Amino acid sequence: MLSVVVPLYNEEGNVAPLLERICGILESLPGKPSHEIVLVNDGSRDGTLAAIRTEMQRRPNIVLVNLSRNFGHQLAATAGLDIAQGQAVVLMDGDLQDPPELIAQFLERWQQGYDVVYAVRRKRKGESAFKVLTAAMFYRTIKRLTNVSIPVDTGDFRLMSRRVVEALKRSRERHRFLRGMVSWAGYNQIGVEYDRDERLSGETKYPLRKMLKFAIDGITSFSDVPLRFASYLGFTVSTAAFIYAIVIISFKAFHWGTPEYARGWASTMVVILFLGGVQLIGIGILGEYLGRIYEEV
Ligand code: UDP
Ligand code: MG
Repeated sequence: MLSVVVPLYNEEGNVAPLLERICGILESLPGKPSHEIVLVNDGSRDGTLAAIRTEMQRRPNIVLVNLSRNFGHQLAATAGLDIAQGQAVVLMDGDLQDPPELIAQFLERWQQGYDVVYAVRRKRKGESAFKVLTAAMFYRTIKRLTNVSIPVDTGDFRLMSRRVVEALKRSRERHRFLRGMVSWAGYNQIGVEYDRDERLSGETKYPLRKMLKFAIDGITSFSDVPLRFASYLGFTVSTAAFIYAIVIISFKAFHWGTPEYARGWASTMVVILFLGGVQLIGIGILGEYLGRIYEEV
């Protein structure tokens, strides 16, 4: 069985066309695999739920997960993955930016033995230059900051095998960066390129504020570089401070022309530099341990 999981938040205009296209492609798949479509209503405030209920009356294979409030895209997707039963599970957006027709290619790759087939965005249509640019920068930044090989320009649109979904189900963190977690799970992964379409109706549910939060979740979930930054800075600054303190002491000790008005300056500087250095190293050591605790948790 194949599961298609779609998180939906205020997508009333997209539900019917989405199901039309998904069902169309599923019917046309070779061998006609049995399937379910798991629709997660993420606390929508418009007619999304009603639209899903209407579709459920005429399509037998829909499973509805109705969340009690808006939990956000990643948690909604997780709720869907938790309940999906298929041997292969496709995760996709509900605004038809992810073309369902790609599922056929996903399945082909899966049958060739790949555990994860992710969709790489070759072009992005109908998105602001700002979003395209910041997204491109983000994917390249996170790639440099982490050891997990997270593919660039890749969203959550992908197919996962049962064992990958099971691995995800065992990772219960609340701040989720699913695309990274899937990469982290390992196994054979491969990308398929596609052109990302415009959203069919409605507006993006990812304003700048949410994009930033998502980026921070991604970086803090998969990199301890920001945490280590305090320790690098601490050691660098305190080494420099230590050298400078020696210079100041030498000037004083050998009477290399400390001017009259600067009396008391040397001792003050030495104390400040010493304490500053000690504090930064202290924070750095805490950072190192915190990094280890975080990793173990
Ligand atoms: N979404 C969701 N909960 C949210 C925000 C978004 O379930 O709080 C869904 C949304 O309905 C869509 C998918 O997540 O199916 C991706 O959102 P969107 O298309 O707005 O993001 P974008 O493509 O603009 O990055
Ligand atoms: Mg979208």
